[in-house]
Amino acid sequence: MVVIVGVRNVRTVLDDGEFHCPECGGDRRYQYGLGRRYLIVLGLHVMPLSRAAGSVECAVCRLGFDRGVLDVPTGRRLTVLLRDVTRALAVGALVAGGESSPAARAAAVCAVRDAGVAAYTDELLAADLYAHVGDDDAAEALDALADHLVPEGRARLVSVAAMVALADGPYRTLELDMLLSAGARLGLTRAETDRVLDEAAGHMPL
Ligand SMILES: [Zn+2]
Repeated sequence: MVVIVGVRNVRTVLDDGEFHCPECGGDRRYQYGLGRRYLIVLGLHVMPLSRAAGSVECAVCRLGFDRGVLDVPTGRRLTVLLRDVTRALAVGALVAGGESSPAARAAAVCAVRDAGVAAYTDELLAADLYAHVGDDDAAEALDALADHLVPEGRARLVSVAAMVALADGPYRTLELDMLLSAGARLGLTRAETDRVLDEAAGHMPL
């Protein structure tokens, strides 16, 4: 049936991709677009009436969100960030002390494998150590991750690095500096980081 006179919403898609849908609670495809209302006469769009603000529409629940929702990392992205941060922290802990200790190197390899890099080996660790240029390696990933982790998740990351630092003996000054700086980057208070470091030391055999 031809509509003689009416109004129709037309959506123009400008962008698409994957996002974390707050409604579905998971990674979903989205389309970002602008809506516009048109006056239609005899089936033809004859006049634009109003333009709606752009919105991000979830492909599953079909709800629309502000574009700011795209700033939240997807679950997939968070997994990659966690893996990268764990790797950078493990390497950073070794650079701070214990680079030549087999026990410390084994602890670092184990930490990175547990974080999801199943094929990680001492050879890959050697390459990471060679490429390491300082704490800046971890800083960017830490910043990107910190806002999206619950406090337990932040403490866990510091704890993983602490276990690498402790694998060849008590904390060295440089190791402590590195771990305290990682805790601060992750948004832990000094007292919270101290507690994590004490707990990790308590778990190590004397
Ligand atoms: Zn959804």
